[in-house]
Amino acid sequence: MNKRREFLKATALTTVGLVAGCKKDKHDDALGIQRLKDSPVVISTWKHGIAANVSAWKVLEIGGRALDAVEQGVRTSESDPECTSVGYGGLPDRDGKVTLDACIMDEKGNAGSVAFLENIKNPISVARLVMEKTPHVMLVGEGAKRFALENGFIEENLLTEKAKAEWEKWIATGVYKPWDYKSNHDTIGMLALDKDGNLSGACTTSGLKWKMHGRVGDSPIIGAGMFCDNEVGAAAATGVGEAVMKTLGSFLIVEMMRLGKSPQKACEIAVERIAKKIKNYKEIQVGFIALNKKGEIGAFALQEGFEYALYKNNRNELLKSKFLTK
Ligand code: ASP
Repeated sequence: MNKRREFLKATALTTVGLVAGCKKDKHDDALGIQRLKDSPVVISTWKHGIAANVSAWKVLEIGGRALDAVEQGVRTSESDPECTSVGYGGLPDRDGKVTLDACIMDEKGNAGSVAFLENIKNPISVARLVMEKTPHVMLVGEGAKRFALENGFIEENLLTEKAKAEWEKWIATGVYKPWDYKSNHDTIGMLALDKDGNLSGACTTSGLKWKMHGRVGDSPIIGAGMFCDNEVGAAAATGVGEAVMKTLGSFLIVEMMRLGKSPQKACEIAVERIAKKIKNYKEIQVGFIALNKKGEIGAFALQEGFEYALYKNNRNELLKSKFLTK
């Protein structure tokens, strides 16, 4: 009970510190030991991870479960119309349709996933329901939508005026290419460790812009876009999904951590594997994040430019990832 009261006190001060612009609170040093022992950790991909981490932290700081944290966290990006690579406001496929992919895993190794889902704003919550209410792991397309509607989700138009205008501009160029390798790799992958030491992960995306209708990437594929094993750690991916699917990057990272590698080294091994196996690796971007049971993190990418958001010990920061290709 005492411990819990101290934890709540520590996290309340943590929030004050953040509002005050991440300045060190005068009690920081006194609380440092407690925070290190009990503090949760959340890590997510890209700049929009900062806002998503704040939502996840609201769950974690009151002692909530990592699973709830990652779901709430990535829902923030899914619901943000300015986030053009996830959920509502996501850029469409080459036929002008927004199709969404997402997956989630909890600390018991349960997994849920949806792919090629249209007109449902928060696919991560549908993925969670697939995990909790069905005997299956993955539902796709019409079946996934029917399941969502039966469970109280509402059908919405996810193509915002802004995304539609961008698609129309692209269509007018007459280049009906499936995707642009160089940009728009902004899937959100999120991993969290809660105060009980349990790990969970989530990954959600509208996929590569101008992709072929029906194309599904790595993000909803357990072991590719995200993988979590509560004995060891968790990992998530962003970037050209085809390269991640061919190398099962997130699973590889968790297995490397199982063999004793640090999260950083494990991410580097997964990126090196892509460089070894994927011919055009210099033309594409892939980035990974990882988190282990001890709360240690890692991040690595093929190219310069990958960023991740880390919320830990009173700080929610956007950090630059190291990368392979010089
Ligand atoms: N990994 C995602 C996909 O291939 C795209 C991304 O991260 O931007 O669908």
